[in-house]
Amino acid sequence: MRLLADDLRRRFGVPPRKPRAGILDALIQTLLSQSTTDHNRDLAFGALKRRFKGWDEVAAARPAALARVIRPAGLGNQKAGRISAFLRWLKGERGELSLEFLHAASDEEAVALLTRHKGVGVKTAYVTLMLASSRDLFPVDVHIHRIARRLGLIGPRVTPEQAHGALAPLVPPGRAHELHMNLLAFGRTVCTARSPKCGGCGLRRHCPFYKTLPSPKAG
Ligand code: SF4
Repeated sequence: MRLLADDLRRRFGVPPRKPRAGILDALIQTLLSQSTTDHNRDLAFGALKRRFKGWDEVAAARPAALARVIRPAGLGNQKAGRISAFLRWLKGERGELSLEFLHAASDEEAVALLTRHKGVGVKTAYVTLMLASSRDLFPVDVHIHRIARRLGLIGPRVTPEQAHGALAPLVPPGRAHELHMNLLAFGRTVCTARSPKCGGCGLRRHCPFYKTLPSPKAG
């Protein structure tokens, strides 16, 4: 993985970290981002922030009204139900709509608390905590799962959920955010799902998938 991280750093540099959002904001954004683009997620999150004065108002809203507001992100009813249920649970559990107390929790505790809720899988929890709590956690999305399989870092039957545990020990310490962001860029531009551009990829020599391609090689 160090070789991969170094190669991607040469190609894409070290991605800047955005100013840290609150953990609850980051969680809601990540829930909205499921199965849609960053652009649509941002549209829905912006609409949410404009329509409601704060998370208390969102929690009090009818899920159907919430679904209408976040429609740009798709799956409005499902996402609204999950957001609503989470906010109401949090209010009942902690008395306030904030997740900042998670800064004091261990990685395992924070992940366990988030993933006990519907719609919050390991990837969503890791993304939330990586972005908003600056933790050295490595979320595995569909691009990273595909690339890891092609490079032989995980076996063909390892699911994206299982890949978190398999890949975490391979990530160079302190570089989870950089590697995650650069792999997303790599997966979107070079090691694409269809027709990967292997001809311009510096990882060819180390890529078992490339060696299976018929000659002339793709890309
Ligand atoms: S050689 Fe091709 S399949 Fe392998 S990592 Fe590079 S782009 Fe992906």
